Amino acid sequence: MNDNPRRTLYDASGAHLSEVMVGEPAYRIKQMWSGLYEQFQEVDQITTLSTALRQRLNEELPTSLKLVRESVSDKGDTIKFLWQLADGNHPIETVLMHYADRVTVCVSTQAGCAMACGFCATGQAGFNRQLTVGEIVEQVVRAARHAKQRKQRVANIVFMGMGEPLANEPAVWGAVERIHGDMGISARHITISTVGVVPGIRTLATRPLPVNLAVSLHAARDDLRNDLVPINKRYPINELMSACRDYLREKHRRISFEWAMIAGVNDTARDASELAKLALSLKPTAHVNLIPLNPTPGFATRGTDMAGVRRFADRLSDRGVNATVRRNRGTDIDAACGQLAAGQPVVLKAR
Ligand code: SAH
Repeated sequence: MNDNPRRTLYDASGAHLSEVMVGEPAYRIKQMWSGLYEQFQEVDQITTLSTALRQRLNEELPTSLKLVRESVSDKGDTIKFLWQLADGNHPIETVLMHYADRVTVCVSTQAGCAMACGFCATGQAGFNRQLTVGEIVEQVVRAARHAKQRKQRVANIVFMGMGEPLANEPAVWGAVERIHGDMGISARHITISTVGVVPGIRTLATRPLPVNLAVSLHAARDDLRNDLVPINKRYPINELMSACRDYLREKHRRISFEWAMIAGVNDTARDASELAKLALSLKPTAHVNLIPLNPTPGFATRGTDMAGVRRFADRLSDRGVNATVRRNRGTDIDAACGQLAAGQPVVLKAR
């Protein structure tokens, strides 16, 4: 673990940067800040700063992510970055997705994940450590730099990469403030996805910006959810729903439920009816995002086929619940939901 996380380039606050740039006029510090967070430049590209100053900045505030591999899919529209953290042996991944009308970055919040959802490759591989604010922010900056080469601007940030964002809420919130305040991506275009860490949802409700909340539900009754999403044993569905209701009261932002569709497990008429009931119990009604299950090494059960996914979506809409089917991107490069393991071996569990 980095014992002084502020001593990296993207962990440094404006005040900290001023300390390192002591003796420089205020406008130079502004140029540096805008070079980093508006232009997505590397320190050496900010040529309004003297060579000596750039050298000092590089020495005193090193970056955190070393690019190991860039994988490309969807005819170049999906790019997965594999990074090595500065302390050596923890790999993490970030996914950049170009759509016709927008560019989205999916960021990791932890190296690994402790939540142990059996169908998720990150959960299968286990937890290494928390990411710092700078390690999260740098993923966005590096992806934005890449998008800029195609003359595109990042419009959406989803905290849906490796890790459980609300098990690392303070760092995630620090990153949200930087992304919103300095990179100019509005909180309405930032989505935090949680497995259902109730205290984290409650903390998020006290934060000042209206970010979107997505809840990985996957099952709408406790016995099945205990099996699919083990944290449900600690925070069962009624507590989760109560936290969602309180979040809505504070934020007035529609919540979405994510539902990975697993053949014969959570795709029946009964599941649709239970899910609809929970979605309708929130005001406004929760939006449902159906995710065709992506294959992972440690989970043998297949995903629901497309006809089944459609049927399930129709059942929800018959009950007045809007559901969309998430387009899976980068399945061939293991960049899709639940496939990010950063090359870590997974622990196989008998099912
Ligand atoms: N830990 C957070 C962030 C991960 S977001 C969370 O659980 O919400 C990634 C989304 O993809 C979550 O909804 C997750 O449950 C889902 N997912 C995990 N494995 C998947 C898989 N194999 N196929 C489809 N979706 C998956």
